[in-house]
Amino acid sequence: MAIMRYEAPTTINAAVKLLSGKAGSARVLAGGTDLLVQMRTDRIAPDLVVDVKRIPSMRAITAKAGGFRIGAAVAAAELGEHKALRKAWPGVVEAANLIGSTQIQGRATMAGNLCNASPAADSVPALVAAGATVVIAGPRGKRTVAVEKIAIGPGKTTLKKGEIVEAILLPKRPSRSGDAYLRFIPRTEMDIAVVGVGVNLLLDGKGVCTAARVALGAVAERVLLVPEAAKALIGTKVDDRALERLAAAASAACRPIDDKRGTKEFRIKVAGVLARRAAQTALQRAKGK
Ligand SMILES: Cc1cc2nc3c(=O)[nH]c(=O)nc-3n(C[C@H](O)[C@H](O)[C@H](O)COP(=O)(O)OP(=O)(O)OC[C@H]3O[C@@H](n4cnc5c(N)ncnc54)[C@H](O)[C@@H]3O)c2cc1C
Repeated sequence: MAIMRYEAPTTINAAVKLLSGKAGSARVLAGGTDLLVQMRTDRIAPDLVVDVKRIPSMRAITAKAGGFRIGAAVAAAELGEHKALRKAWPGVVEAANLIGSTQIQGRATMAGNLCNASPAADSVPALVAAGATVVIAGPRGKRTVAVEKIAIGPGKTTLKKGEIVEAILLPKRPSRSGDAYLRFIPRTEMDIAVVGVGVNLLLDGKGVCTAARVALGAVAERVLLVPEAAKALIGTKVDDRALERLAAAASAACRPIDDKRGTKEFRIKVAGVLARRAAQTALQRAKGK
C-alpha cells in the first residue's frame, strides 16, 4: 500500500483546496473502513488522501431547521448514542447501526457509506426514504443535493473533482410519522445486504397515510427510490391490501443480479417481504407505539 501524501486539514475550505489542487487521484478519508480496505487490496492507489476527521464542523450532530445536520465525519456509533436523533429518525439510526461490527461502528460514517457508492450500502435506503439531503462543498462553493442523486452505480458518484460531502441533513420529523429500515443477510451479522428496504410514512389524524417514501438497496446498480411503492400506501390506512400492493410494487421495481448470496428471484421476493415488514414497523412508530 503506497500513500503518496496524507493530509489532515482542520477546515472544509482547506480540504477542498487540497482535493481540487491535486493533479493525480485524490480521496477523502472518513472512517477508512472502505477506503483502507481498497488501498490494502490494491484496488485503488490515490496520490493524496485527505483525512476529514479533524474538521470540527464535520464531527458534530446539530439541530437544524427542526431536523438535524450530521457532519460527514460522524461515526455510526455516535448516531446510536444521540437520543434525540434516535427518537426522530429510528430507521436511519438502525440502518447506520447495522454497518459492520462494534469496531467498524466506531469509525464508519454514513457519508462514507454513501460516497463508496455500493448498491448494498445499508444507511442509504434509510436516508433516501427519510428525504435526506447532502451539503456538498467544492471549488465553486456549496450545493445541496438529494441523497438519491449521489451514487449512480457501483463505485460511481456524481461528485465532481474537489467536491466533498460536508454534512447530511435530515428534515424535521412531522408528528404522526415514522420510518424503518430492514435488510436481509445470509448470516446474523457482518455481511452485505442481499436486500435492504427503507420506509418513511406520514399519517393524518384519522390514520390515513398522506405521504410516503420507499427505497430499496442491493436490488439494482444503485439504491432505488420507488414512487410506485409509496403510492400503494398513500390514501390507505396501511392495511393488508395496501401492504400487498406495496410488496408487489417493491418487487416489480427490482432489477437485481444473481450472485453467491442470492438469486434474482430470491431478491425480488425478499424485497416485497421486507417492504411490507418495514412499512408495518414505520406504521407502528407513526402511531407512537
Ligand atoms: C468488516 C466490515 C464490515 C462492513 N459491514 C458493512 C455493512 O454491514 N453494511 C454496509 O453498508 N457497509 C459495510 N461495510 C463497509 C463500510 O464500513 C461502510 O461503507 C462505511 O459506512 C464506510 O464509511 P467510512 O467512513 O469508513 O468511509 P471511508 O472508507 O473513509 O470512505 C469510503 C469512500 O467514500 C469517500 N468519502 C468518504 N467520506 C467522504 C466525504 N465526506 N465526501 C466525499 N467522499 C467521501 C472516500 O473517498 C471513499 O471513496 C463494512 C466494512 C468492513 C471492513
